[in-house]
Amino acid sequence: MVSIKSICIKLLMLLPLSNIWVSRDFDFFYFVQQWPGSFCDTKKSCCFPLTGKPVANFSIHGLWPNFNDGSYPSSCNIAENPFNQSQIIDLVPRAEKSWASLSCAGGSKKENKTNSDNERFWKHEWDKHGTCSYSVLDEHAYFEAALNLKDQFDLLQILQNNGIKPDGNLYSIVNISEAIEQAIGFQPGITCNRDALGNRQLNEIYLCVDKSASNFIECPILPKSGKSCTGFVEFPIF
Ligand code: AMP
Repeated sequence: MVSIKSICIKLLMLLPLSNIWVSRDFDFFYFVQQWPGSFCDTKKSCCFPLTGKPVANFSIHGLWPNFNDGSYPSSCNIAENPFNQSQIIDLVPRAEKSWASLSCAGGSKKENKTNSDNERFWKHEWDKHGTCSYSVLDEHAYFEAALNLKDQFDLLQILQNNGIKPDGNLYSIVNISEAIEQAIGFQPGITCNRDALGNRQLNEIYLCVDKSASNFIECPILPKSGKSCTGFVEFPIF
């Protein structure tokens, strides 16, 4: 007679196979934009690309595949899908405008590393996040999708329409969130950081996007914004 125990053991032996059949690549994307003024006025400071100071608007940080439980895949199959800037050469002018690197290549501004390196930043975003979306987007499609998402809504304009300006004053996180939700139709995630003096400031805005990387959706889970991102925070000048 076949015992329940032996059936269970056989089912357990089949589990690795079923994982292959139903392996999850990711569930949705976070499309993350940052306020450059908040990246630059930290203790670490920032550097600009050779193309010069980026425009004073929200800038793309990344398009990040995510799971519904808040975890995310990272650095998937980099060897099979290495970053190759020549594949996105037609997108470079748009990326220079909307996806500029602000970190000082090889050190901090204080160490006289005066320029950032866009290619290095784009490679980092592709390696860590983009490679995990390879089931739906190749490198060109990934960068193009992020740039098209950026062009769908102008976050700075949305905030300014609601009297929220990057003038160094304090603004309510609730008002910032509601202004964006009204314009886009979905609640954003908001994270904060601290300037060199330790003041809390608006840092990044997370919007959720479906697996096709073209439609904004309600976030299955919002990023943790932490205690430092409640009440009133600074919106620094850039
Ligand atoms: P990620 O690894 O994609 O999760 O993003 C975090 C890393 O991106 C950190 O090392 C940040 O310093 C870096 N980073 C964030 N924004 C920028 C930016 N505008 N330019 C260059 N590096 C950035």
